[in-house]
Amino acid sequence: MESMKYTVLLVDDEKLDQRLTIQALAKVRFTQRIQFKVETAETLSEAIRLLGEKSYDVILLDLGLPDSQGLASVKEVRTANLQSPVIVLTGLADEELGLEAIKEGADDYVIKGDYLEHVLVRIIRYAIKRKEVEEKLRRANEKLKEDDELKNEFISMVSHELRTPLSIFKNVISNALAGVFGQMSRKLRDNLDMMDENVDRLGRIIDNFLDISKIEAGRMEINRLDLNLSTLVCEVVESFRRFAEDKGVELQGVNPEAELIVNADRDKIIQVLTNLIGNAMKYVPARKARISVYVKDLGNEVEVDVEDNGVGIDKDDIGKIFQRFTRIEKTAAETHGTGLGLSISKQLIEMQDGRIWVESTPEQGSTFCFALPKSKTKEQSYNREKQDSVV
Ligand code: ADP
Repeated sequence: MESMKYTVLLVDDEKLDQRLTIQALAKVRFTQRIQFKVETAETLSEAIRLLGEKSYDVILLDLGLPDSQGLASVKEVRTANLQSPVIVLTGLADEELGLEAIKEGADDYVIKGDYLEHVLVRIIRYAIKRKEVEEKLRRANEKLKEDDELKNEFISMVSHELRTPLSIFKNVISNALAGVFGQMSRKLRDNLDMMDENVDRLGRIIDNFLDISKIEAGRMEINRLDLNLSTLVCEVVESFRRFAEDKGVELQGVNPEAELIVNADRDKIIQVLTNLIGNAMKYVPARKARISVYVKDLGNEVEVDVEDNGVGIDKDDIGKIFQRFTRIEKTAAETHGTGLGLSISKQLIEMQDGRIWVESTPEQGSTFCFALPKSKTKEQSYNREKQDSVV
């Protein structure tokens, strides 16, 4: 049977200690079929030079070197060589130092004089194995990151490519519905209406894919401005008015009179609200459906609640719905969706220092809420105005 061969860099300036270590390693050769090829360095600078020239399976490092004392040596060796395990050699009185060395990046320590060869060899083998596993994990992680970036690029590219033909379809359908191509039968008009709705739906799916790939690649831009959340919520609620009436949903917006200023990205807030109200529209009952949107002043924050009397969400599912691609089985079959809307909303709100959550009772309804901090600039100018009036 062939024996395993390891190369060792022994960094120690004490000749006697060097000899003891080499002897301990030599004994292993006969008992465990492991061979160590040992090279020595007597100073830290020599060790660093050798590490720059070649790699070793393991580094045994004494902490009392002529040109470096204590933990500083561990840091320097680690910086010079990330891959090989470093085992610190300490004196009996210095066991604490061994533990400190591990915090600084050493893989293990061994007390000099404890050189029962099997102790030494076990420590070396474990350290090497651990490093190999760490290295495998690091490589696998890197590969995952690369794959993830590739996936994001792919999604982004495909989504952009799909947008162009889609906008051509949309134009043709709109022109046809507007009568540009002449009269058409009722049946054709109904079919074109249906196509129009589906083109819009496909557009929303593509936009969701684009958004999620931008967020994951850290490329989502947030352009914050001071805005009155009360008025913005009103505008979005009104944009749903026709749709709600067509669906027979009672939709109301409950806003305080006061200005509630947040420093946020207008388009992104519209996107979140559209998602929350759009979802509520999907999950309300066919009869006696009700959706209310409240804006509340919490002092330091402004809260927006979208309350519906729909199917509700089971307690077990509440923790999942803000994760991407989550669709709840109970409702997934009856409605269309990608399971991305809430995950995007959560990230958009959190990117603006806000929070988002849901409260729900199955079969009774859900309230999706988000809160954004009030604008500081507004507060400062408000405080200044108050001070001015006191003077
Ligand atoms: P999508 O609506 O495209 O499926 P979302 O991320 O917006 O994706 O929502 C995820 C899931 O959360 C939905 O599939 C649905 O199961 C559940 N959900 C969202 N809003 C509501 C709501 N108002 N009432 C009940 N369930 C909801």
